[in-house]
Amino acid sequence: MTFNNFVGGKWLPSESAATFENRNPANTGDLIGLFPDSTAADAEAAIAAARRAFESWRLVPAPKRAEILFKAAQIIAARKEEFARDMTREMGKVLDETRGDIQEAIDMTYFLAAEGRRLHGQTAPSELRDKFAMSIRQPIGVCSMITPWNFPMAIPSWKIIPALVCGNTVVLKPSELTPLSAINFVKVLEEAGVPAGVVNLVTGGPAVGEVLTTHPDVSVVSFTGSTAVGKLVNQNAAPFFKKVHLEMGGKNAIMIMDDANLELALEGCVWGGFGTTGQRCTAASRVIVHEQVHDRFVDAFLTRVSALRVGDGLETATQMGPSISEKQLQKVMSYVAIGRQEGATLACGGRSLASGAHANGFFHEPTVFTGVTPSMRIAREEIFGPVVSVIKCGSVDEAVAVANDVSYGLSCSIYTQDINRAFTAMRDMYTGIFYVNAPTIGAEVHLPFGGTKATGNGHREAGIAALDVFSEWKSIYVDFSGRLQRAQIDTAEL
Ligand code: NAD
Repeated sequence: MTFNNFVGGKWLPSESAATFENRNPANTGDLIGLFPDSTAADAEAAIAAARRAFESWRLVPAPKRAEILFKAAQIIAARKEEFARDMTREMGKVLDETRGDIQEAIDMTYFLAAEGRRLHGQTAPSELRDKFAMSIRQPIGVCSMITPWNFPMAIPSWKIIPALVCGNTVVLKPSELTPLSAINFVKVLEEAGVPAGVVNLVTGGPAVGEVLTTHPDVSVVSFTGSTAVGKLVNQNAAPFFKKVHLEMGGKNAIMIMDDANLELALEGCVWGGFGTTGQRCTAASRVIVHEQVHDRFVDAFLTRVSALRVGDGLETATQMGPSISEKQLQKVMSYVAIGRQEGATLACGGRSLASGAHANGFFHEPTVFTGVTPSMRIAREEIFGPVVSVIKCGSVDEAVAVANDVSYGLSCSIYTQDINRAFTAMRDMYTGIFYVNAPTIGAEVHLPFGGTKATGNGHREAGIAALDVFSEWKSIYVDFSGRLQRAQIDTAEL
């Protein structure tokens, strides 16, 4: 099946007519479809359509914009299973998880659509008589969105819905590896009644991304992806003074104290480390364990990890799917080699799987390294695959110091029964997200999502915080005195 871009309310091929293939990472013989390999001209046409549509969409009352979005949430909910199957086919994670991805898009759409009846500003007393002072949120203009493949519907929804409810228009470029889920989402918006040009979608690679980050008619660039590409996006957009929102990589840690409920911690580490095949920005790729419980934890952890069933995410018995691509699998394998060279102990897994049911996909064994020290590359760099490094520690302070000592700052968690330790770690971890007695994954849509340091640039997705990315404050003063009043100068009158 051949899919199209969505520009100005029409589904169109690339002006070059070129396409690229999207294949199932669990079975490369399964062709999902052909998608436009779009050019700079396609991206420019989408930006022009969004620019035109902005003039009318910004004036649609926010509660009316929200009504359309509520309808979209209902449509997605009705098609949840169909969309989840499409997503598992195109990116490999197991059905339970793709259902979760779609559910996140539904939750985000309902939550942020409700802002259409709020979008609160502030009123404040004026320092002068007969004068009214207030601030309101204003839409900004055309927002370009560049998204990764690991949450192929959730992440586009995190960006598109707040942008729309605020009155902006959108051009989305999804990952080349997961265009179908983005198309499914945009089709729903079209069906729900989003007017032509308000949401545009252009598939393709960096050539499209570069136009979206540099075009003079784009006011906001919202990017989720690797730190390396995020840096490029930031540099490319900077000369144009665009508002740039970046959500990037992570190297998240679960800290397990000697008083932890070990059973709970084990479950959390398996889910946090190997859910989505370790391909989550919040994946628990480091486990920092107190020396008093280290050996007991490692024994049980290895037993559980070795028992994980790896396979096609569409099969109900599968617990862990493939890597997204050959390139990603190679990256995982290269880090396994690096870990061994660095002197860590390969305690389980470590091999790619390429025979029998795994012959046509990008599968890798769930892998655990023990004896990892904080300075090793496997403990510092984002692998984005099913590889967990176990590091020994002697105290909560040491665990926090090790957990903080990476360039990223997305998510962290602690397992302990001691409220003092929990609060100490909660305060001292410099991350955007923190969990107590739960793994590093599992964010909910109504709280801000994002990270510090090389994970983000100070903005947040989700929650009400998302509105700050996609709106600008305007302060308004209404003087009804009928005379010139000079702020800070006419101070004598009481
Ligand atoms: P990536 O950086 O390779 O690609 C992300 C997007 O950027 C894709 O759409 C890609 O086509 C586009 N792109 C590539 N080159 C570009 C350029 N020069 N200009 C503009 N756009 C360009 O990342 P990925 O492999 O798709 O995703 C994995 C990464 O995403 C991981 O690092 C992960 O941690 C991160 N991620 C972060 C979050 C978060 O919220 N912090 C969430 C999910 C994923």
